Amino acid sequence: MDNISKLKNIKEKKKNSCLNNYGVEYPQQSKNIFNKSLKTKEIKYNDKHFNNSEQMINTKNNNIKNKYKVIKYENQIFTFYCDKCNSEYDITHSLYFNRRRIKTEICTNCNPYNSNESPNERFIIEFIKENYDGEIIEKDRNILNGKELDIYLPKLNLAFEYNGLFCHSELYKPDNYHLNKTETCLEKGIQLIHIWEDDWKYKQNIVKSMILNKLGKTQNKIYARKCKIKEITDNKFIKFFLDNNHIQGYITSKIKLGLFYDDELVSIMLFGYSRRSTNKTKEWELLRFCNILNTNVVGSASKLLKYFIINYKDNKLITFADKSISNGGLYKKLGFKLDGITKPNFYYIIDGIKKHRFNYRKNKLIKMGFDKNKSARQIMLERRLYRIYDSGNLRFILD
Ligand SMILES: [Zn+2]
Repeated sequence: MDNISKLKNIKEKKKNSCLNNYGVEYPQQSKNIFNKSLKTKEIKYNDKHFNNSEQMINTKNNNIKNKYKVIKYENQIFTFYCDKCNSEYDITHSLYFNRRRIKTEICTNCNPYNSNESPNERFIIEFIKENYDGEIIEKDRNILNGKELDIYLPKLNLAFEYNGLFCHSELYKPDNYHLNKTETCLEKGIQLIHIWEDDWKYKQNIVKSMILNKLGKTQNKIYARKCKIKEITDNKFIKFFLDNNHIQGYITSKIKLGLFYDDELVSIMLFGYSRRSTNKTKEWELLRFCNILNTNVVGSASKLLKYFIINYKDNKLITFADKSISNGGLYKKLGFKLDGITKPNFYYIIDGIKKHRFNYRKNKLIKMGFDKNKSARQIMLERRLYRIYDSGNLRFILD
């Protein structure tokens, strides 16, 4: 109960300061650049995440010329004091710099966050307009029964939502918020694609390729029948390909199948034993599949799967489709059957990125020195590391 009342308290405190951690001034910003900037900060402040470091606050204060006195800077969120409303307020650093840039009131009590403020949603709409001639409805209120739907393409029965991480975290949205939007659209025959702020910021090429694919505007076409399958053992090579072409990035796997056009890797399918596997009954899982960006490799999935079935499949094969971006159509086409639907998963927002909850379980937090009498959620809330929930997964099975 303490937990929930604490959450409510924080929610109440921030009722009027819903922020969006937005602000991509560098549309092509890649993970590499991001890592580089982390390194630069590391050298400058000698603290990789510069959480609450005195030096960071002093440096920020000098930069901000005393007008805005930083009370706290943690996890990319400033806490300032406002002389007008005589209270503290929180603001993500990207929203802060954007408000400074457009010379508008900074205080999120005096000037509450409004979702139209995010330039990223604008960038996404512009990108769709550049590549799609059909009707585009912005801020539709019919589909979601009065709630706003960011981008709707009626001809394609397709919709997009842009989700700023902080504003869509547990502080402001219920756990099933994204799932409900996905389901409500589905009931009306519309596929809803969720675009998360960090993906747009750090994996924009992959997101754009995905959008083009949904619009039916993928630029390149290769036929799988003209390609050769090779088994790949070099993990660095796999990692490079996945980090650049798959929204979920790298994962360790047992069987790594690559499809090569001439000598270029154009498609990849990875397999391992599923978490439900026991020594007695092994169950396979298709862990990753993707084509190289902006390329339709016709027949790639079925060719790779067929190879796996002939050479390795000695038991059931399962796979998961992320409902935030997929309706599982590919797996149905490949002969998989729907086997279950999982509840929304949550991630923690760490320095503006969704991080897997695995590293923030209670036993790990206790090892890090946090109070063993508190729940993981309580500890994370106190650290101001908030949860964000997706739409859950579809689980498919091939007997
Ligand atoms: Zn104020």
